[in-house]
Amino acid sequence: MSNALTPNLDPHALAKAISGYHLIHGALRPAISGRSFDVVDPATRRTIGHAAQGDAADVDLAVDAARRVQKEWAKKPARERGKLVTECGRLLNDHIEELARLVALESGKALRTESRVEASVVSDAFAYYGGLGAELKGESVPFDPNMLTVTTREPIGVVGAIIPWNVPMMLMALKIAPALVAGNAVVVKSAEETPLAVLRTVQILNQIMPAGLINILSGFGPECGAPLVAHPKVGKVTFTGSVETGRIIYKTAAEKLIPVTLELGGKSPMIVMADADLDRAVDGAVSGMRFTRQGQSCTAASRIYVHETIHDAFVAKMKAKVDAMVMGDPLDEKTDIGTIISQQQYDKVTGYIEIGRKTAGATAHVCSAMPKDARLKNGLYVQPVIFTGLGKESPVTREEIFGPVTSVYRFRDYEEVLAEANDSDYGLAATIWTRDLKTAMDATKRLEAGFVQVNQNLVVRPGLSYGGVKQSGLGREASLEAMLDHFTHKKTIIINMS
Ligand code: ADP
Repeated sequence: MSNALTPNLDPHALAKAISGYHLIHGALRPAISGRSFDVVDPATRRTIGHAAQGDAADVDLAVDAARRVQKEWAKKPARERGKLVTECGRLLNDHIEELARLVALESGKALRTESRVEASVVSDAFAYYGGLGAELKGESVPFDPNMLTVTTREPIGVVGAIIPWNVPMMLMALKIAPALVAGNAVVVKSAEETPLAVLRTVQILNQIMPAGLINILSGFGPECGAPLVAHPKVGKVTFTGSVETGRIIYKTAAEKLIPVTLELGGKSPMIVMADADLDRAVDGAVSGMRFTRQGQSCTAASRIYVHETIHDAFVAKMKAKVDAMVMGDPLDEKTDIGTIISQQQYDKVTGYIEIGRKTAGATAHVCSAMPKDARLKNGLYVQPVIFTGLGKESPVTREEIFGPVTSVYRFRDYEEVLAEANDSDYGLAATIWTRDLKTAMDATKRLEAGFVQVNQNLVVRPGLSYGGVKQSGLGREASLEAMLDHFTHKKTIIINMS
């Protein structure tokens, strides 16, 4: 790993250089079984490298390494742990461009609009949590005058982190930075579609961190993720992914009686009142729907309720904005919109578009233009679609699509639209757009979601608690509370002085 500190701006060369490895106890190593699987660039469908195909044997090795170093790590004063995590943030800052290019190549997310943004948030997450070591405080409890009663925050031990492919580096950072500051060691299982940029990130972190503190495995969910969750020495699992997998993980964790954090799907409503600033709301819909990420976001504004007086103008303006976005090579600076991650997701997304198209009374407003570059002719590109005229029972309205597909609904009455917005199995994010303070306040109280915004639609930021209600998950991430509540347990200590 001697050259790991030198950023490599050629993502193809970098992908090859780190192909075929886990990172366990500070060293790159192939799977014990010797197996690996291909990593594919979704813009060209060419193989760009391969990833170690982990299984229970690799999990054992990684958890063992984590266990051995965790005890020593936990003995360090919390602020010293924090200092090292802050340093990680600084080091990652020097690698933003290489990480951005690598994640753009393997995920199909455009470099300028998405991948670079993700890489900088990764470094910011470490910077944020690095400063929070001193906050791992306990309390003194006035229990009995002859007894000193205090609580302390103890690390859990080894944390298993299972991450998805849509923002892999950022979601990993929001799990491992707080876990480390709190005194834990971590074993990460990357998503099968995006194993490389996160591996590189961990390789960079291992320049600073003790060997074994952060380990990363690649592999398939049931073969590599499941044994990590089930491992008897893993004391906590933090997961971001689908509701189905979240349920499986929760069941295994229930057998072991260990805590879990689950960040699952969403079907986030956006309500645009008649008095809203129309242009601002349109911009918010376009960015909130994350068209630049091909809609592959848990918080995508995929149900947009617009007051009937402005509905048609809203749709026309929104379509014009999305039309102006450029679909193309993710690594090209001109590109706004890249590709869908995999054939499986492509089939799922286009399947929903077909359902919408075939619905009587519905219109599919197809936006932007397919890339013309012949090199991209096999790429997994899907033109963004804005539906109008769909009903509340349509699968497009009810189910998470995780693609560039949104639906705009016409409404008249505030109470009715609020009920419709809340009529969902999910409850991750929601927004309301209005100039009226009373309506805004009322909606923020009554919208059933963990992350509610008024007149804006921003993504998760370090420092803000993030997580869902209903089927969207359990627990919160990204904040101080996330570190305290999800990566420590509280110990009560009573000293009898009588
Ligand atoms: P998606 O459908 O978006 O790929 P998943 O929930 O299947 O979402 O995947 C998210 C992460 O969960 C990936 O890293 C995947 O490998 C992992 N995973 C999938 N199935 C399991 C499982 N049974 N146990 C543990 N992890 C799993």
